[in-house]
Amino acid sequence: MEAAADRVAIVTGGSRGIGPAICRRLGKNGTIVHLAYANAQDAAASVVAEIEAAGGRAFAHRADVSVEAEVEALVDDVVDKEGAVHILVNNAGIIEDALVALTRLAQWDRVLRVNLTGAFLMSRAVIPAMLDERWGRIINISSNSVRMPAAGQCAYAASKGGLEALTRVLAAEVGRKGIRVNAVAPGRIKTDMTAALWAASGVEDGENRWGLPEDISGIVAFLASDEADYIQGQTITVDGGRLVGRQRAARRPS
Ligand code: NAD
Repeated sequence: MEAAADRVAIVTGGSRGIGPAICRRLGKNGTIVHLAYANAQDAAASVVAEIEAAGGRAFAHRADVSVEAEVEALVDDVVDKEGAVHILVNNAGIIEDALVALTRLAQWDRVLRVNLTGAFLMSRAVIPAMLDERWGRIINISSNSVRMPAAGQCAYAASKGGLEALTRVLAAEVGRKGIRVNAVAPGRIKTDMTAALWAASGVEDGENRWGLPEDISGIVAFLASDEADYIQGQTITVDGGRLVGRQRAARRPS
């Protein structure tokens, strides 16, 4: 296995929000970063430029993770160029909230297709390259919505619950081959996805602050490293304590 600095990562949803922070963090470690974006070419190019300006190596690819042919072309491109893929971060995601009774099948399908099927397609595509190396890291970006869902999050929470189940199944299947598969479940993070919510919340700092993309990128970089070799099939919650806070409040005697 090469030194950590020569490793090759694919990060989906690398053009905005949590994705660029993960790309920058991996790039800072010397990992060669291939970021995938759905349609924001300029934003993806800026992330590449930032990583290069900091002395790293990065490349942007347009690829919709919900389209099998695009996923396979992306992974083939990276393997042709680098000869290997060591790290996959399934970060691309969408949210379309509606109550169950009002959720159209097309909405449900769109969310499941990107958040869950996309991670399945990406993982399936990179596993042969990871098996060749007998070393790999797959990190799935889930959500606290699995454990603390809000009304209206049926498709989103179901997609992330499925993603956590996929994480454990994959860990059981490839663990003996040197591949570690884990998930990170962020709480509320200040990104474009949640812009309307944090703009309305008025909470800017203190213990109850919104998380930042950089609150997520460090744990992803750790899970992508050799040091995380003994962590397998887990979901790590990174939510500033909201989950335990909610439980504590629920048990408080009146
Ligand atoms: P964001 O909307 O700011 O960015 C999402 C990224 O995914 C974008 O780069 C977008 O282009 C990409 N993407 C969307 N559909 C795609 C597709 N079909 N193919 C390829 N790329 C696609 O969102 P974010 O807040 O940065 O979220 C990143 C991940 O973190 C998501 O999986 C999200 O569910 C998860 N998450 C976010 C929060 C939060 O509070 N922001 C909380 C928990 C989990």
